[in-house]
Amino acid sequence: MNAPVQRPPAARTTCPYCGVGCGVLARPNENGGAIIIGDPDHPANLGRLCSKGFALDETLGLNGRLLHPMLRQADGTHARADWDAALTTVADGFGRTIERDGPGAIAFYLSGQLLTEDYYVANKLAKGFLGSANVDTNSRLCMASTVAGHRRAFGEDVVPGCYEDLDQADLIVLVGSNAAWCHPVLFQRMVRNRRERGAKLVVIDPRRTVTADDADLFLAIAPGTDTALFSGLLSYLAGAGTLDRSYIEAHTTDFDAALARASEIALDLAATAAATGLDEGTVARFFDLFRATPRAVTCFSQGVNQSAQGTDKVNAIVNCHLATGRIGKPGMGPFSLTGQPNAMGGREVGGLANQLAAHMGFAPDDVDRVRRFWDAPRMAEREGLKAVQMFEAIERGEIKALWVMATNPALSLPRAAAMQAALRKLDLFVVSDNVLSNDTIAASPHVLLPATAWGEKDGTVTNSERCISRQRAFLPPPGEARPDWRIVADVAARMGFAEAFAFRTAGDVFREHAALSAFENDGARAFDLGALASLSDAEFDAFAPTQWPAPANHSATSERLFANGGFSTPDRKARFIAPEHPALRQAVTAKFPLRLNTGRLRDQWHSMTRTGASPRLAAHRPEPFVEIHPLDAKQHGLAHNGFARVRTQHGECVLKVVTCAGQQRGSIFVPIHWSAENASAARVGDLVAPDTDPFSGQPEAKATPAAVAPVAFAYRGFALSREPLSWPVDVWWARVAMPDASGCLIATNDVPMTWHDRAPALFSDAVLTEYIDRAHGIYRVAAFTDGRLAGALFLGPAATPPQWSDLRSMTGGAGIAESGPAICACFNVGVSAIRDALTSRKAASVDDIGTALRAGTKCGTCLPELRSILHDHAHAH
Ligand code: SF4
Repeated sequence: MNAPVQRPPAARTTCPYCGVGCGVLARPNENGGAIIIGDPDHPANLGRLCSKGFALDETLGLNGRLLHPMLRQADGTHARADWDAALTTVADGFGRTIERDGPGAIAFYLSGQLLTEDYYVANKLAKGFLGSANVDTNSRLCMASTVAGHRRAFGEDVVPGCYEDLDQADLIVLVGSNAAWCHPVLFQRMVRNRRERGAKLVVIDPRRTVTADDADLFLAIAPGTDTALFSGLLSYLAGAGTLDRSYIEAHTTDFDAALARASEIALDLAATAAATGLDEGTVARFFDLFRATPRAVTCFSQGVNQSAQGTDKVNAIVNCHLATGRIGKPGMGPFSLTGQPNAMGGREVGGLANQLAAHMGFAPDDVDRVRRFWDAPRMAEREGLKAVQMFEAIERGEIKALWVMATNPALSLPRAAAMQAALRKLDLFVVSDNVLSNDTIAASPHVLLPATAWGEKDGTVTNSERCISRQRAFLPPPGEARPDWRIVADVAARMGFAEAFAFRTAGDVFREHAALSAFENDGARAFDLGALASLSDAEFDAFAPTQWPAPANHSATSERLFANGGFSTPDRKARFIAPEHPALRQAVTAKFPLRLNTGRLRDQWHSMTRTGASPRLAAHRPEPFVEIHPLDAKQHGLAHNGFARVRTQHGECVLKVVTCAGQQRGSIFVPIHWSAENASAARVGDLVAPDTDPFSGQPEAKATPAAVAPVAFAYRGFALSREPLSWPVDVWWARVAMPDASGCLIATNDVPMTWHDRAPALFSDAVLTEYIDRAHGIYRVAAFTDGRLAGALFLGPAATPPQWSDLRSMTGGAGIAESGPAICACFNVGVSAIRDALTSRKAASVDDIGTALRAGTKCGTCLPELRSILHDHAHAH
């Protein structure tokens, strides 16, 4: 009898994508990958995962991984180096720059994808030992307005509530949040509350997304007018006698000034309606619902944050909760939904240029306290440059040495192309990452340092509800990859700081971070992990999800703050803030008549370095697109499924056109995910204006004035190849993940027959077999090397382009759905199959669709879209 196969135990870890912070069980398999399921014991998700979480197993391959340190050579190419040479180059380069130009000439740019331990060590080195507070993070583009709003109101960056509030609320208000796509597991929790307890859901957004399809009330607010709406609400609550005077009196200050300003901005329903572009009846329904529902949670996300007035928007929302005492009690409170998995952890360690560490700022007492704790020889004493300013300083040549960790600023920053060019000016440009190429690495760093990726990393992250969870390694580090915290500590040692950075493990780093949070705290800051500062290695290994402030027994809790005041201000009272009158920074003009809104898609994450490897996820929205209202499309000569050039003052993209009645007139939407690596002209960061919020420094990524114009391509098609293809500059292309192959969607004006001459360059060293139908404008070629199929290209007229089914035998059926996007990523069910089931009466409900097609029966992420399709079908028939 064979001995039973010993299977490695499943590691309890955390999803690396959004701020919900779902727990994951990952069991390594014999192929070097892992079987992924949701962790039933994690309080954030109780076993659920969304489509991205369930596809994590498809993202673990080593294709495109940076596996060894590399140094730039004189000819601009990169050659493998040993760790010692690479680390010495970094240490010497930073040392030289500081000596010559001062600490203000160096900068670190970090990421919400880093673990808290990585963040902590980088922040300690830069701010305590190199004397520079130029340490910022891509969270600046994501959550900085919330941080600034919290600090103004509460005296500290604290989310008052927890996820259980979303189960217990009677009213959930979502502002500037497409939670159905961006926080799917949490959104399902809200929908469950609505279905089972009858909670009301209100969605406030200029764009009607699938999130709104589950709402009781949708407010299609005009872009940039959130402050007017919540000022109007504060005025209304005051007039209706709904204020909690005793809470205001006991626990807050500055109420009268805030109410006076709110009344100036929006005194009554009519003024609110006029200021927000809403009708008075809709405003009245929302205000009355809020007035009559004490258990109300207001969730907000990037639509609030990514604004040149984002901090005021946050405070306008917080004001309404403070004024009604609806904060820190079950089912109540303002609740920011964090974008990234560890944006919160980065905020805790001071990963932002205007924070020091452990929620301390740059007040002299804080600087002195952190100096003494770290025994820091060269302490930064004032705030550093925030992301946009930091890269502008690089552009001007003022910052000369930069270290980018785990992020892609040449994709994500406003004026991305200009920022990419600025990187080439640096005297020392260091990137530590786990990919061999991206738009930032295309700017040719002097040093490339291989970092461990998800599945190999060990440490902690903090999610949207202040819950600290472990990320645990379940795969060995490939090649010579090292944890980011260790790379930074190794550089610190070479700069003479070995003793202060003598961390053996991530647990060592965590304990020091926890101890700093408690050092001379005495209740001044809610962020206090003192109870965790003496965890043993075994306790750190076994550490269960824990919400801070950490209780002595450090078990999972649902802690709410501020129900009885106790804010982190000198008088322990919250501050009402009088916001500025709402206005977008730039006006639309005749030349740029539309507003460009940017955002995430359901099945992709940031620059697609991981999700872009999943054929299942690619099938949802395979091409970069611009969404526009049908009447605007008509006015600008655009056709659904055609192409458009989208231009702003800063750049242009060429994108597929998707007409959508949910898009507000005068606004367009473009997703953020496509880069120069995966599409010919779809990097939307190139288009975004660098206007920033005066308090948070967060850029206004949702309102850049833009223009659209049609672009005609006579021919369309696709290609499949074993290796990625390099396309001529006149071809529009977008890369699509396919099983064991590289796929591309393409469009061109070259008549297919000219591809007879172009194909040899595309498939070099291959034997080509062609099919040319001149009469119908069809060209097909199959390329063979060593008798194996190496690639294929199919082109035809744009009106009747070739279908992927022609290649189905090669792809095994996965990849792009035959017609229209795949709605269910788990079972690759396309929109056409769902519509067919409805039309043929095989299905008449979401449950029927699940029975007939399995769609929606696994992770449930597509349920809002299924309901939306069902709704549209019912209205059309
Ligand atoms: Fe990951 Fe999805 Fe959970 Fe977000 S909701 S943490 S992306 S599984």
